[in-house]
Amino acid sequence: TGKWTRAAEIVRELEEQCATPLGRLRQVADAMAVEMHAGLASDGGSKLKMLISYVDNLPTGNETGLFYALDLGGTNFRVLRVQLGGKDKRVIKQEAEEVSIPPHLMVGTSDDLFDFIAAELAKFVALEGDSFHLPVDRQRELGFTFSFPVKQSSIASGSLIKWTKGFKIDGTVGEDVVAELTKAMERQNLDMRVTALVNDTIGTLAGGRYYDNDVVAAVILGTGTNAAYVERAQAIPKWHGLLPKSGDMVINMEWGNFRSSHLPVTEYDQALDLESLNPGEQIFEKLISGMYLGDILRRILLKLAGEAALFGDTVPPKLKEQFILRTPVMSTMHHDTTPDLRVVGNKLKEIFDINNTSLKVRKLVVKLCDIITKRGARLAAAGIVGILKKQGRDTLRYGNKQRTVIAMDGGLFEHYTIFSKTLVRTIEELLGEEVASTVFIEHANDGSGIGAALLAASHSQYL
Ligand code: ADP
Ligand code: MG
Repeated sequence: TGKWTRAAEIVRELEEQCATPLGRLRQVADAMAVEMHAGLASDGGSKLKMLISYVDNLPTGNETGLFYALDLGGTNFRVLRVQLGGKDKRVIKQEAEEVSIPPHLMVGTSDDLFDFIAAELAKFVALEGDSFHLPVDRQRELGFTFSFPVKQSSIASGSLIKWTKGFKIDGTVGEDVVAELTKAMERQNLDMRVTALVNDTIGTLAGGRYYDNDVVAAVILGTGTNAAYVERAQAIPKWHGLLPKSGDMVINMEWGNFRSSHLPVTEYDQALDLESLNPGEQIFEKLISGMYLGDILRRILLKLAGEAALFGDTVPPKLKEQFILRTPVMSTMHHDTTPDLRVVGNKLKEIFDINNTSLKVRKLVVKLCDIITKRGARLAAAGIVGILKKQGRDTLRYGNKQRTVIAMDGGLFEHYTIFSKTLVRTIEELLGEEVASTVFIEHANDGSGIGAALLAASHSQYL
């Protein structure tokens, strides 16, 4: 019937526009490396901010003492305490708690958000047990993981450049987020000092390095996406500070804001961007990350409902609701292994009130999941290869088989199996078998929290 012809046409067009053949991915990787150079050359030189983290030494394993970390992500925030025992004892004890951020606080006032965070932190500190030890007369110290772009002025201060993901709060941009948190902690009578302010990518890199000496980059695939890597300080023209003893400086790329004419962008992506909280920004992120994949799928389903009557003569009203389809649900449908795709059917009913879908329709939904996920995962892989290019690790120099380890974290990478498998496979395709055998993707579970605590330790006021 005409309905299926039109549907097939829409899907074919989508597939074409989302295609990521290796040639295109190589162009994306090259463009990433070029933009990295530009962003390191000058502030404002690129869509990539290439932010200086003030981390010039990564954890060694010698860190000791009790430290806290607070990780403010895009969806959740986590608090953590860790007792570090140095070279031999390493992590003696570790406790963490996760709290989801009430949505109204993401679009409210700065004070309300920081008061909430400080209050949760104070509750957590109050439950500190006897197995944690703080020497007398010492203040507790905190590593603050803040997963938004910040222009740092030191390891423990920095001003917010912009909100991303689901956040839009007046009055925080331009402010020192450490000062905001410190004031909120004071309002809670919580005596604690922030000794390290780090992006989640930096935390993940630090946490990864603690467990594996060959970790040289970190990638986050969660609500948003971002990456950090170890750069030679001499290769950062915009850095006018002293050359660090290590010779290294960790860079927070803010790669979510990457864009390039080589990126495969569709009408659905354009509409998603226009209707987002931050139009024109975070274009790479909007093609890849967990906040958006589900909504891309929803937009395609809406088009199919309207133009190909995929769900009957009328368009199910819930299909028009932005973000009603979350990526975890999309992932659940994509991984449905029942022969009649029962899970897909149930989710369509549950989320959109769409009843009695045929197997053909369900199969089509899975195919759409596949197109969107494949594009996102392959683009993320190309971004990683761009970093390896910049680091000179995309080829075997002089036959040197040095290990390269990338620490990965984030709910999307952790839970969306088809996504993570596609990503790993694509890196192999891009690098070739021999080089790929030296590159390892390691899942650093909650690496950003422990990493921030480790950096708080190595920047303690008592050292
Ligand atoms: P944050 O990005 O807020 O720091 P996480 O790293 O935990 O937090 O990532 C949470 C995000 O991961 C969610 O917003 C969602 O997009 C994605 N996610 C979580 N669970 C799944 C899942 N089962 N399948 C796919 N994506 C998931
Ligand atoms: Mg996070």
